[in-house]
Amino acid sequence: MQVQREPIVLVCCSDIAGQVRGKGFPAADLPDRWKSGVGWTPTNIMINAFGRSPATPWGPLGDLMLVPDPAGEVKLDYGNGGPDEHFILGDIRHMDGRPWECCPRSFLKSALGDLETETGLRLVASFEHEFHLAGAEVRVGDSYALSSLRGVEPFVETFIGALRAAKLGPETFLPEFGPGQFEVTVTPAPGLEAADRAVKLREICRSVARRFGHRASFSPIVTRGIVGNGVHIHFSLRDRDGSPVTYAADGPGGLSPPAASFAAGVLRHIRAVAALTAPSVLSYERLKPNSWSAYYGNLGFRDREACIRICPVPETPGAEVASAFNLEFRAADAAASPYLQLGMIVRAGLQGLRENLPAPVLIDGDPGRLDARERRRLGIQDLPRSLGEALDALEADEIARGWLPEELLTAYLMHKRGEIDHLAGRDMDEVCRLYAEAY
Ligand code: GLU
Ligand code: MG
Repeated sequence: MQVQREPIVLVCCSDIAGQVRGKGFPAADLPDRWKSGVGWTPTNIMINAFGRSPATPWGPLGDLMLVPDPAGEVKLDYGNGGPDEHFILGDIRHMDGRPWECCPRSFLKSALGDLETETGLRLVASFEHEFHLAGAEVRVGDSYALSSLRGVEPFVETFIGALRAAKLGPETFLPEFGPGQFEVTVTPAPGLEAADRAVKLREICRSVARRFGHRASFSPIVTRGIVGNGVHIHFSLRDRDGSPVTYAADGPGGLSPPAASFAAGVLRHIRAVAALTAPSVLSYERLKPNSWSAYYGNLGFRDREACIRICPVPETPGAEVASAFNLEFRAADAAASPYLQLGMIVRAGLQGLRENLPAPVLIDGDPGRLDARERRRLGIQDLPRSLGEALDALEADEIARGWLPEELLTAYLMHKRGEIDHLAGRDMDEVCRLYAEAY
């Protein structure tokens, strides 16, 4: 009998390691799988970026289901006879359908749900990604250069086309500062969709790069000493009618009272938040002074080294400011699950709203020029200087740790401390190589 090739589809989650893992089945069975999904195991979430699960609260026990969400589907036909890219992001549920306490996507959904229920506010976001393309030609002087696109145009055109086909709203693509480094942005979307888009974008980028013989890496630092890859999470608040409520002309830096409280909540808990937004050992090699990432937990007006940057808006006469006005969270990278990143930002922002916190202090320029006592007086905290420090800060922050279901907190700390142990004693070049491969 002649063998017919049969396409498969994978139902996936983006997990604690920020890896997209799942299980597949013949695409023909999809109609039956929308409800039942595929089987999943609690310990899978303990697999770290290096394919190890040194410790697990569950061992071999337990069963879950990974249930696809139609909004999470990506189906791309590259039109060259090769296999389609077909996967569907979903939620990890108990066998009775309840969301599993450790499901990252459900963590974000519940944070967004509480934000809306308690405050009537909705979050709109867009994840801006930087990545390195191995296999691209590199020329000294290529920073932001037109020439750095030469040779990678087929990749770029297919990548943008794939983003469009997957309905991600491609917005910009640019050569970045580093050798072989590029940046891509997509249009803003409601919170959950924005995080889904971030997961899809990373996978689509890796898949298209591979089709052209390149390798895309989103690792926070690909080569020691060379500028890192950030994920800058842009966000703004809308009311239930969809009207923008982040901007107030007379507010500090243009922040409305709710936006000010939201930002203040994030910065008050920034050391715990960082444990989820900058969740790898290498994340803290990127978060260094003078590297256009972030080094302090500060708010900055159009400052590319602020942890939360108030972004520019058009200033031409008659320009619509309120809907363009947004904040950018810069202490993030692609070693994290976008669901955990955004979920944590929303939880911290909601806390700021609950406590009606005043706007964070807005100083001009680098907080590093102030002495530590002055920074403390102004409420500007140091970002954690290592992953270990960030995890300790999360564990010690009674309020922030309560945002994570207890099982998720335990699993997260165990997972990440195992990652630190795995890398102990390795030199930085090897650590960079391992992360570049993993992300
Ligand atoms: N590569 C920098 C980072 O790690 C960002 C540079 C920029 O502002 O685009 O965040
Ligand atoms: Mg950039």
